Amino acid sequence: MTVPVHVLVLGGTTEGRQLAESLVGDPRVRVTSSLAGRVAAPRLPSGDVRVGGFGGADGLAEWVREHHVDALVDATHPFAATMSRNAALAAAQAHVPLLALRRPGWVAQDGDSWHSVASLAEAAELLPALGERVFLTTGRMGLAAFAELDALWFLVRSVDAPEPPCPRRMEVLLDRGPFSLEGEREIIRRHRIDVLVTKDSGGDATAPKLTAAREAGIPVVVVRRPPVPEGVPVAATADEAVEWVARKLYAEGPAASG
Ligand code: NAP
Repeated sequence: MTVPVHVLVLGGTTEGRQLAESLVGDPRVRVTSSLAGRVAAPRLPSGDVRVGGFGGADGLAEWVREHHVDALVDATHPFAATMSRNAALAAAQAHVPLLALRRPGWVAQDGDSWHSVASLAEAAELLPALGERVFLTTGRMGLAAFAELDALWFLVRSVDAPEPPCPRRMEVLLDRGPFSLEGEREIIRRHRIDVLVTKDSGGDATAPKLTAAREAGIPVVVVRRPPVPEGVPVAATADEAVEWVARKLYAEGPAASG
């Protein structure tokens, strides 16, 4: 019997879990998913799971060598830029092929009033000109960017409770997607939200807020994604990533790169 190839999936996303689920059923593959450990009770992927940082790119390269990883898939959230950079450096160091699995970003539709910004700091700068009651859906990290906006009121939605520094006038809504259109409409109505802030996370699970904002005629501040590290191929879906794994590990052999 041949030894299964080892695929390390850097996860924390729906697509990462979907990929692990698909690979687990293939007897030629052993899959390990890695989670950062940010969420107190994460949804666990199928297959082996490890939790916690690697200690930078060098630590990840070391882990890859020690555990005989044959291919690396960076299925982290589109905004987990540090991990994605580390993955690119580690893959080069350890000579293993790397794929970035990134769901496509959202596209504005007729009736949308989107303001594209490069960062949370830029979003905070723009906000006072757009509204007073903010639905902030960018996650619990990075709230410091909004902490000085005392004239605004924030509804902050996050999986786990945020820690200071946070906006002074803030209500926290602990919840995790998927979110329904009906639920998003109700939040905007009940809290009299007049501006929404979101990262361009993409995907269906959290998209209904964009429809609800369009219907309510309120502006949306959309934080643009950081770029995928240069030279790293990108798959848009877990199925595409499965095909890439098969191509890299069976058609080209475990030593193939790129
Ligand atoms: P980040 O800023 O890119 O990464 C910071 C550090 O966290 C990394 O250097 C690494 O530590 C560790 N890390 C990140 N992802 C990891 C993983 N999958 N496995 C092991 N260690 C990991 O990441 P982040 O934005 O804080 O996101 C953390 C996790 O939450 C990611 O897995 C991401 O997929 C998920 N997530 C992020 C967002 C978001 O908006 N950023 C949204 C939803 C989910 P070491 O250097 O010690 O290895």
